[in-house]
Amino acid sequence: MVFLWSELPGSADSEAKMIKKLDIPLKSDLVPEILNNTDKIQFRCHKGISCFNACCKQADVTLTPYDIIRLERHLGLSSEEFLKRHTVPFKMDAQGVPGVRLKTDESGACLFVREVGCSVYEARPSACRFYPAGLMAMRPKDEPTDKSRYFLIREDHCKGHQEARRVSIRDYRKEQGLEIYEDMNREWLQINLKKRSSGPTIGKPSELSLQLFFMCSFDVDRFRRFVLSDSFRGTYDLEDGFYGQIETDDPALMKFGFRLMKQVLFGEKTIPEQEGALEKRREERRQHREMRRRSEIERHEKEQEDLLRDST
Ligand code: SF4
Ligand code: SF4
Repeated sequence: MVFLWSELPGSADSEAKMIKKLDIPLKSDLVPEILNNTDKIQFRCHKGISCFNACCKQADVTLTPYDIIRLERHLGLSSEEFLKRHTVPFKMDAQGVPGVRLKTDESGACLFVREVGCSVYEARPSACRFYPAGLMAMRPKDEPTDKSRYFLIREDHCKGHQEARRVSIRDYRKEQGLEIYEDMNREWLQINLKKRSSGPTIGKPSELSLQLFFMCSFDVDRFRRFVLSDSFRGTYDLEDGFYGQIETDDPALMKFGFRLMKQVLFGEKTIPEQEGALEKRREERRQHREMRRRSEIERHEKEQEDLLRDST
């Protein structure tokens, strides 16, 4: 599981209280333990364990952009089809920033779980790879860089904690193939953190910026069509090689989406714009408003005429 917090609390006790306040979707009342990369946990999960699949039968899996890319390609689905068939949307925070979770059946079981285990194991999401640990991205007060901390949850149904093996968080991440997931999602987590930290400074995000966030984060095929469109090419000054690459390279497109989000949401300009593109967009918007104003006037005049005719 991946969680975000904008301000790093002081002590382990206050960290634990902070975690309790977060919307951690677990059915346990136990307070999680906060861990560093070198801390060791006692844990092993394997097919012969008595609780095999128990966690997947109470699944509450929040997806990251790279999780979705891996899953949809593994299943041979477009992002639109994957989102429709396998996810449910939710709001990640009070500002309405959209997120997606894996769909479950009525009993709460993941749709991918089978008697023999996870049917998408090679492409399982980062939350599943981390479990029973999780990642928290935090921004310490007065520090410019984010800090990763890990937490461990002990749930009654999970017997892996009773196994004899001790493993460091660092080795566990390696074993679970998490490094590429963390690398790919780091910038996205930073965007989320920055949005939370800036909060009222930036104000409530517009509907359009929330739509852009959703498309760039989760709907890679629609985002590809958007980037390859004439209007996008007319707005941004990018080389032909870039367009050629993102036609097939999903991770490259995803990372470009992070840049675009930072440019649109925070004004961090890293994508050059075509000369005069801003003025052109302003003019198009002005013409659009003018057309709407005229059609409103025409509709109003017609209503007046109809009224006059009916009354004579
Ligand atoms: S994706 Fe796989 S590992 Fe994750 S909850 Fe579903 S069945 Fe379990
Ligand atoms: S040991 Fe824990 S993680 Fe492994 S199958 Fe059992 S409940 Fe799931």
